Amino acid sequence: MSDSGQSPGQGSRMLNVPSQSFPAPSSQQRVASGGRSKVPLKQGRSLMDWIRLSKSGKDLTGLKGRLIDVTEEELKKHNKKEDCWICIRGFVYNVSSYMEFHPGGEDELMRAAGSDGTDLFDQVHRWVNYESMLKECLVGRMAVKPAIPKGLLPKSQMISTKEGPSSPSYDWFQTDSVVTIVIYTKQKDIHLDSIIIDHQNDSFRAETIIKDYSYLIHIGLNHEVQEDFSVRVVENVGKIEIVLKKTENISWKCLGHPLEKHNSLIPKKDTGLYYRKCQLISKEDVTHDTKLFCLMLPPSTHLQVPIGQHVYLKLTITGTEIVKPYTPVFDSLLSEFKEPVLPNNKYIYFLIKIYPAGLFTPELDHLQIGDFVPVSNPEGNFKISKLQEVEDLFLLAAGTGFTPMVKILKYALINVPSLRKVKLMFFNKTEDDIIWRSQLEKLAFEDERFDVEYVLSAPTSEWKGKQGHISPALLSEFLNRSSEKSKVLLCICGPTPFTEQGIKLLHDLNFSKDEIHSFTA
Ligand code: FAD
Ligand code: NAP
Repeated sequence: MSDSGQSPGQGSRMLNVPSQSFPAPSSQQRVASGGRSKVPLKQGRSLMDWIRLSKSGKDLTGLKGRLIDVTEEELKKHNKKEDCWICIRGFVYNVSSYMEFHPGGEDELMRAAGSDGTDLFDQVHRWVNYESMLKECLVGRMAVKPAIPKGLLPKSQMISTKEGPSSPSYDWFQTDSVVTIVIYTKQKDIHLDSIIIDHQNDSFRAETIIKDYSYLIHIGLNHEVQEDFSVRVVENVGKIEIVLKKTENISWKCLGHPLEKHNSLIPKKDTGLYYRKCQLISKEDVTHDTKLFCLMLPPSTHLQVPIGQHVYLKLTITGTEIVKPYTPVFDSLLSEFKEPVLPNNKYIYFLIKIYPAGLFTPELDHLQIGDFVPVSNPEGNFKISKLQEVEDLFLLAAGTGFTPMVKILKYALINVPSLRKVKLMFFNKTEDDIIWRSQLEKLAFEDERFDVEYVLSAPTSEWKGKQGHISPALLSEFLNRSSEKSKVLLCICGPTPFTEQGIKLLHDLNFSKDEIHSFTA
């Protein structure tokens, strides 16, 4: 089940792929983007085009299908655009034919030419599965082991830094019927969404997120346990108790044997993404192109996606593993607030727009009820503490950029006592594109603190509301605080150029960095 293997074709380090082909080359979004490591791709250079080329049977390595052991001296020689080899996690790829398809552009790729690019790739696109994407470019293995990237240290796995958390530890005890694993995080702000547990066959995996670190318990259990288990967090002391039910009432002499990276504390950014297969339970139309997908977690998984975070979904498209990020929502804006209060939340909901000419979403749309989709551990840098004592919450969303706002909005209305006002400015092309419009209006009717305004870029002539794109005039009218010195949080999410432009405008309006949270990959 784990995708943490390091060999080509099996690896798990998944990277974002959306910018490779989205927005369309001619669209305003692409023209305006030009920002961080995004280079407009030429026509015919989308991810799908690359998959087609790599499956064409063309010899992309120049080695006629042979795999070789590559010395460091040999690697260094291949440092030109037309002859470019890069080592990623001990495997060497000839990326010359991939150059034009790389979303970050040739120059970014050339930074790793003839050398070990593992750290560079991890920094930029930690979750792209290069092993799968570049498998036809594989030249061979490094003859000498490359420098081991951080996070894969085999011996002393505990990293103790001044900034990092003090070393967590674990223990276990048993009664006739249960085995209890106790994790001592030595940290106060630990909640049920800080721990992710997967129990598959005899492999037990519990990853605890402690600040920006990941503490892993990974054990091959010595005896069988039942599928379901319970998890309890004693928040004030940072203790986590996982109670496993024995299948047989026998006394265990030991818990089991350590598996990969067991008892390690490593920076979260250096961990691979772990996937478990979730079952598609339902799929409902929300707008003409957006659907609500419900996925069910396996019974032996405990996973609650923290508010404001996303996960990656993985599909194999014409033989290549592709992952894309999606932000879980609730099943409805009006349903009772369930997370993170209910520990046994087994369902994850997503609002997903289907792009007919897209790579991933049409495949997702073709899944049948009952099919399985691998879902990763959560990622993202939104911290719920940002909402503490907030009085005015302003949400700026464009299209599916609405998705992170769903949980934030509900959490704030229910759990932030200081809150006076929540305003959502929702940018769409047409009225038909507005996600959950009637629910938003019902919520605004029921809760006087909440207000929603729509801005349409391509309305019909009947539209009486606001029109256009994000602008200083729209924002200065919208962002009226409840008092001059009120504590404010602004959240912004949508197409990258929309978000970048919005941030700039907010700075121009004198909102500080700390008052703005933008959602990006
Ligand atoms: P792509 O293949 O990326 O194509 C998108 C569009 O570009 C299509 O209209 C396609 O026609 C056009 N296009 C692509 N290539 C070309 C070409 N060569 N020529 C012309 N046109 C082209 N989305 C959601 O719906 N819900 C979410 O909750 C969500 N959460 C996200 C969270 C994060 C952190 C991020 C970064 C993104 C999120 N997204 C979400 C967006 C999502 O990850 C995908 O980018 C999106 O689903 C598009 O995927 P796709 O492969 O189907 O489309
Ligand atoms: P869309 O329907 O194409 O656009 C929504 C609105 O934004 C439209 O009014 C559109 O105007 C406007 N817009 C687009 N580009 C703009 C720009 N450069 N400047 C100002 N306004 C602009 O949006 P979508 O197809 O739903 O796409 C949603 C985006 O949000 C995707 O890029 C997705 O990756 C991103 N997203 C990110 C996260 C996250 O980071 N956590 C989560 C969810 C979604 P026009 O009519 O002029 O195009």
